[in-house]
Amino acid sequence: MSVETQQTFPQQAPAPAAGGVPLGAVLMLMAVMGWSFVGAIRCYARPAGGVASGLAAPPVAAVGQDGAEPGDEPPPDSQYALADSSESPEAEADAEPGEDEGEDDGGGDGGGDGEDGGEAAIETEFSKSFTPPEQTEDWAEQLELPKTVKYTVRFGGSLVRVANLFKIYHHEIQALNPGVDPERELPPGTKVVVYKGEGAPGEGGESVDYAGAGSISDPGGIPMVEGPGRIPKATPWKTFAIAETIAVMDLALRRWAKRPGAQKVLVGNMSQRGGGRLKPHSTHQSGRDVDIGYIQKWDGKEELNWRKMNAQNLDPGETWALLQTFVGTGAVEVIFIDRGLQKLLHEYARAQGVTEAALEPWMEYPRRTGEGAPMIQHVAGHDDHIHVRFACPPGQDRCKSRAQE
Ligand SMILES: [Zn+2]
Repeated sequence: MSVETQQTFPQQAPAPAAGGVPLGAVLMLMAVMGWSFVGAIRCYARPAGGVASGLAAPPVAAVGQDGAEPGDEPPPDSQYALADSSESPEAEADAEPGEDEGEDDGGGDGGGDGEDGGEAAIETEFSKSFTPPEQTEDWAEQLELPKTVKYTVRFGGSLVRVANLFKIYHHEIQALNPGVDPERELPPGTKVVVYKGEGAPGEGGESVDYAGAGSISDPGGIPMVEGPGRIPKATPWKTFAIAETIAVMDLALRRWAKRPGAQKVLVGNMSQRGGGRLKPHSTHQSGRDVDIGYIQKWDGKEELNWRKMNAQNLDPGETWALLQTFVGTGAVEVIFIDRGLQKLLHEYARAQGVTEAALEPWMEYPRRTGEGAPMIQHVAGHDDHIHVRFACPPGQDRCKSRAQE
């Protein structure tokens, strides 16, 4: 159900600003380029020291990642790739947070049709809401798959520009927004349709193969929906996923938004439309991986953004509540969190009276990395974002997950 009241497009085109290209677009472009540059450096500088010191070579047989590349690639983003524990938070593997394209809080309430009517308010009492994680068989049954996805223009630009941001064809975006001149300057706040479907299974493609060597089958994935509880913080073309992932993300974030005082969650990289390699990640290939932000101690003055988290800026209670909200969907297969942050979460839970035994299925800590098969596992580089992998939807037989092995 859409609560959209704003019309999709102003029918009268405002006069383009004199001088053509709006400042906002220029700034955004500069921001994107700047981040790409930084990312390139990080990517480039990463392997030698960090990998050699902290990580042994991936056991290829166990990993089963045909597409994993040797050499200067970061290790596959999986516990199975880490034969040895890496205690060093400096050992960066998959340290790419969602990319900041210079856009502010998306805010808007457009997007998903995933109304979750009648959800109970989230418990605010930590100890009462603490239950061990489990992935349920029927998690996908009640999901409302996206029918329409809209993108809210932040600084201006045209339909063509939005198409470029999402890497969708110009003829596609024209068909999705009939009657709009593709070159016309759109004022900030304009909602552009970037996807339309029937909400039927399979419309967003299927997740194929492993997250570290996979793809999204034709016709390709669906872009992440805007909505409550979230701040889009990635380049739009990196925010595609299979429909089930989009729907369950929307569900979790809508539930999260009902929590009193809930901080909005940064939503970062997901997959490309067709999946496949999404540098610098080694995973994010099959439409089931999502980067989200930790909940921060935040003064509300600066813009919420990706940060290296530590005891000073991590809000462990709220981060726990966020993890519980996500895991509570029954759709989460595994979560990657840096071991040092697992320790902070563990200590917080223990201080709240949660037993060691109750924490065991939740996280590796204080066991060695790779021990057990808890929900939260260490993969280096996840100290500025949480990596959530959702399960293979029932019926998608080409989707491969290590849990099935
Ligand atoms: Zn990730």
